[in-house]
Amino acid sequence: MTSVPQDGQINTWLKWSAAELSLILEDNTQEAEWLLSSLLNCTKSELYIQKNELTKQQSKLFQHWISSRVKGLPAQYITGWTEFYGRRFNVNTSVLIPRPETERLVDVAIHSLQELDNPQIVDIGTGSGCIAISVAAEISNATVLGLDISEDALAIAEENASINNVDNVKFLQTDFLRFNPPEPIYDGLLMNPPYIPEKEMSTLTTEIRDNEPHLALTDNKDGLLFYQHLSESANKWVRPGSWLIMEAGLGNHPQKVKECFDRKGFEHLEFIADFNSDERIFKVQVL
Ligand code: GLN
Repeated sequence: MTSVPQDGQINTWLKWSAAELSLILEDNTQEAEWLLSSLLNCTKSELYIQKNELTKQQSKLFQHWISSRVKGLPAQYITGWTEFYGRRFNVNTSVLIPRPETERLVDVAIHSLQELDNPQIVDIGTGSGCIAISVAAEISNATVLGLDISEDALAIAEENASINNVDNVKFLQTDFLRFNPPEPIYDGLLMNPPYIPEKEMSTLTTEIRDNEPHLALTDNKDGLLFYQHLSESANKWVRPGSWLIMEAGLGNHPQKVKECFDRKGFEHLEFIADFNSDERIFKVQVL
């Protein structure tokens, strides 16, 4: 263990934090830079030209951040934010950390829905609101509704809509598995639901399992509950001709998701690869 820097020099703190983080990470330098630049509210390159020093208070806080990180708290929960689809999203442990793979779902949603006149879009299990807000921001004539069962998650989603100045998105607390809307008014339904089967929870890294909300990770069943429910209730949500766009898991999970919709007679089904070439974005047209 390297000793804690006694002065406020940025490069000393960078070296110290990178060394501490090397205990748990391979991209330790990158993460040291990300944490320190977030603390100092500057860009990574500004770290290397900054003449300023860390104040006593900043040094203390940074030490605390690094010790939390070494104990396994994800960096995004420490800084309180992450980037998704080019925008800033605040996060806390009430919401799943937005994943880069999910940006592909946003791409597919934009591509499928942007030509429509004032599309009505609903996002099931909105969490931080990353999908709903990104789509609303990119399709300015759309009206987007983000639903979640968790009031704490919705508070973060509201905050994110506001910091990104997106006003064509609204949020509502509801239990998707129990309530349907009064009429099927949506042109697009987006969903990245909890899909880890309960018996696979033990295979997740402790970093994820111990910190990210259980409610957002697993349905406490086979990981298909939300897809199955959607395959049974889609016509209560969306108009004929509209799109269901979902993210699925890894391995044989996408295939199982497809089977839910096959069984209910849906015919227009398509998989789209995410940025890792995994076929995980699933698009269904409801006729
Ligand atoms: N829709 C949110 C996201 O994609 C939350 C997903 C979830 O909580 N399962 O990040």
